[in-house]
Amino acid sequence: MDDSKCLSDAYVRLRAAVSKLGEETAIAGTSDSVAATLPSATAVQKALSSLPHRGDAGYLEPRGFDATLDYLVGTVVPALNGQNLGGRYYGFVTGSTLPVAEAADNIVTALDQNLHAHLPAQTVSTSVEAAALEMLLEVVGLGEAGFGGRIFTTGATSSNVLGLTLGREGVLSMRLDGGPAESVSELGMLSACRKAGVSDIQVLTSMGHSSLYKAASIAGIGRGSVVDLPYSDAEPWRLNVDHVEETLMSSPGTAFIIVVSAGEVNTGRFATTGLADMQRLRALADKYGAWLHVDAAFGLFAMVLPDKPDFARLRQYAQGIELADSITSDAHKLLNVPYDAGIFFSRYPQLQHQVFQNANAAYLGGPSSSSSSSFPAIPSPMNMGIENSRRFRALPIYAVLLSEGRLGLSTMVSRMVRLARGVHEILAKIPGYETLGGDSIEDTYIGVLFWAKDDTVNANLASRINASREIYVSPTAWAGHSACRVAVSSWRVAQGDLQIVERVLRRAVASV
Ligand SMILES: *Cc1c(COP(=O)(O)O)cnc(C)c1O
Repeated sequence: MDDSKCLSDAYVRLRAAVSKLGEETAIAGTSDSVAATLPSATAVQKALSSLPHRGDAGYLEPRGFDATLDYLVGTVVPALNGQNLGGRYYGFVTGSTLPVAEAADNIVTALDQNLHAHLPAQTVSTSVEAAALEMLLEVVGLGEAGFGGRIFTTGATSSNVLGLTLGREGVLSMRLDGGPAESVSELGMLSACRKAGVSDIQVLTSMGHSSLYKAASIAGIGRGSVVDLPYSDAEPWRLNVDHVEETLMSSPGTAFIIVVSAGEVNTGRFATTGLADMQRLRALADKYGAWLHVDAAFGLFAMVLPDKPDFARLRQYAQGIELADSITSDAHKLLNVPYDAGIFFSRYPQLQHQVFQNANAAYLGGPSSSSSSSFPAIPSPMNMGIENSRRFRALPIYAVLLSEGRLGLSTMVSRMVRLARGVHEILAKIPGYETLGGDSIEDTYIGVLFWAKDDTVNANLASRINASREIYVSPTAWAGHSACRVAVSSWRVAQGDLQIVERVLRRAVASV
């Protein structure tokens, strides 16, 4: 059988198995055909005990295409969770996959392009990536904002690594003022800091995502140098701009990177309350030579919401992102493309090139020096981010932007926000629950944080809810106590699901 027939048959079988997975977990009478929660314990056990071990008879013996496919379809697929198959998986912020993105992702695999160098005569792939990045900037209202440094990354964690790495380059280069040779990327952190008279680099934030601490570790800044400056006990997600100013003012030997959490991951709330906050942060960054990074992994998509009164507050919180030096976002969350797909924008393409250039590899092509006055319109991606060899992750993003357009994206994100608000309203009317992170429905974006008032119930609330297998929520912690979080991020969400959510939530606090 020829390759392509073999593959299309395999794909038909695989897709049928995935749909069957949906049917097996379906709950009669729901708006959605799929429960979209967890695989059965039996299926997981079966798959676990199927894993080969060193010393097993036949270990690493070739099984061949057909037997391997049978095994994948029959044993592995049923042991995977159904988060992508229905709209009621509210765990983490997973996003889902739009069908057009899945189709595009199959092209990515089938043709396996390597987007390291920009080679326009050989492949259009890097030009597609550039077009998708440009469309994305436009659709979130940043088309004119001057973000010339653009790249798709593996996820928001990598984008935060880019942000802090570029930030440290920026804050030290401006103190050294000796061109590209006088930089962290050439001298290393220790020498650059010593020469610049900088004794410490700190990251000022409020409720920074866990990956920000990881990024600080990777970037040689240190987790301990991430300083939390909460506005108040009641609004810890909000950045205390007064304290930012006091800190910048009182620490002349320290260089700073300010990180705005545009969408705190537990509450979905924003660190700034509007343009005025961001303008003040921009002015402070300019005055004290600090870098302004915005982690907008899911918050960036508040900017596609329609200009309607119910979304006015969210649109206001997201305002001013255009004043950042660099921006992190995710496409595998709200944009509903498959993993791995992160987004990074910076205002300084040359600086970005200075840090990430894959120097001394002439065979890979691309500009050899960032000091060249004519910066290429499409720089080779390997000189703008962490990876050299890179997946064509831009294609599913491009497909979604083409297929949905401005209106489709705005409708999709609105539906997520409406569903989250519906969950918030349900929780507010059931006496056993308390919502956390603010009471106002207009502040609710795609996340709802809550706990049960009864401590005994609350101790295992997420398990009680998830045992229904009708919805799935994340267990988390808030103010030192356990809590639950609903994050709505799938294109499949249906308003009718709220009936199921209400029934499950009522049962979880009633059955003490
Ligand atoms: C999800 C998230 C991240 C990490 O993103 P990955 O894509 O998982 O690497 C970073 N910051 C925020 C605010 C997030 O929500």
